[in-house]
Amino acid sequence: MNRENTPPSPVASARNLDDYWMPFTANRQFKARPRLVESAEGLYYRSVDGRQILDGCSGLWCCNAGHGRREISEAVARQIRELDYAPSFQMGHPLPFELAERLGAIAPPGLNKLFFTNSGSESADTALKIALAYQRAIGQGTRTRLIGRELGYHGVGFGGLSVGGMGGNRKAFSANLLPGVDHLPHTLDIARNAFSRGLPEFGVEKADELERLVALHGAENIAAVIVEPMSGSAGVVLPPLGYLQRLREITRKHGILLIFDEVITGFGRIGEAFAAQRWGVTPDILTSAKGLTNGAVPMGAVFVHQDIFEAFMQGPDGIELFHGYTYSGHPLACAAALAALDIYQGENLFQRAIELEDYWCDALLSLRDLPHVVDIRCVGLVGAVQLAPDPAGAGLRGYRVFEQCFHDGAMLRCTGDTLALAPPLIIDKAEIDRLLEILAGAIRKMA
Ligand code: PMP
Repeated sequence: MNRENTPPSPVASARNLDDYWMPFTANRQFKARPRLVESAEGLYYRSVDGRQILDGCSGLWCCNAGHGRREISEAVARQIRELDYAPSFQMGHPLPFELAERLGAIAPPGLNKLFFTNSGSESADTALKIALAYQRAIGQGTRTRLIGRELGYHGVGFGGLSVGGMGGNRKAFSANLLPGVDHLPHTLDIARNAFSRGLPEFGVEKADELERLVALHGAENIAAVIVEPMSGSAGVVLPPLGYLQRLREITRKHGILLIFDEVITGFGRIGEAFAAQRWGVTPDILTSAKGLTNGAVPMGAVFVHQDIFEAFMQGPDGIELFHGYTYSGHPLACAAALAALDIYQGENLFQRAIELEDYWCDALLSLRDLPHVVDIRCVGLVGAVQLAPDPAGAGLRGYRVFEQCFHDGAMLRCTGDTLALAPPLIIDKAEIDRLLEILAGAIRKMA
């Protein structure tokens, strides 16, 4: 549907954009002024009108090794010729076993049992179900409550949505979300932590809210806590110093499982394979997706502590977990993931975010005096610039800057009035400068 008074752009008029219902998109607004890319190589997309667009967010936080990686496309092409599909229930093929072993070797200590899914949302729901089933398996069946966190994002399945804490995503479904879910307070605190470099100094005490929930409900009724070590979708919200350690202490003390959603932080974004390793806190279950295949084929992986896995293997003979997907461990996804891992390890890309971190943070923080900037957050190769909302409405200013950046040749993410950046880990200093010049220019134009 075109709005009558908005002239369609040449791109829109050349194509039928009416029938695809785009996810998480203001469809009418988009279709009046579409942004379409048709190819990508290295750090750049090419738009359908022939412009080079610097990828400032690794697609959707997933193309960590950059675009057009031949090693991946060739592995997938070989695989589809050899074995296009094999049933995933009561049958198998070698690749998910090989991939599980490779992933177990880079996982935080003990998290070497792998369950494969097709997305971050499925990984979150899988992790929650494993947590609930595990508590029953060890005779703790009253532990059914789940705890998430405000501003958390764990995908769009009913489980992930229920523990998630982004109001806009939940509102339309609130009557049908899971019962027995609580939320910890988020850790965004601009008043105390604005313009921090790396982990913010203030806010560790927010983890103590978990003790309050334990006192309220009883530990014997709580199955698991799920958090992103760093919230990405909410606009790069970092854990205060000591916060994750505190959560780990409290969960361990009360027999509550700790789940880290590392769908964004996994595969090198903040300088180690996983945030758990960079920040020295090992959860019981860890979810991933996105960078697992460098974004090339949909796939997710849930890393499960071996003790949890063993508890299931002690039960009666037969199916241990009634859960899985037709495409769990899909041959093409496994081939892509194995090739992506070869690249990450061969090019030492997980280290790259640490090597570039100082330069990245300096460059980002140099934008602090631009108009309307109220906070800048950064760690590894991820960051965010938060703007004060336009008096005409929250989110308008952020969206305008995002649109202007695309027009000027850079693709970022915007969430509300926060612009998030997470470039491919192959970026260099000159291209960091270029990315931030475009962002700074767009902010100035909006002023
Ligand atoms: N968890 C986190 C932390 C995410 O950032 C995302 C996606 N942005 C998801 C889960 C959901 O992943 P997907 O869109 O692949 O379902």
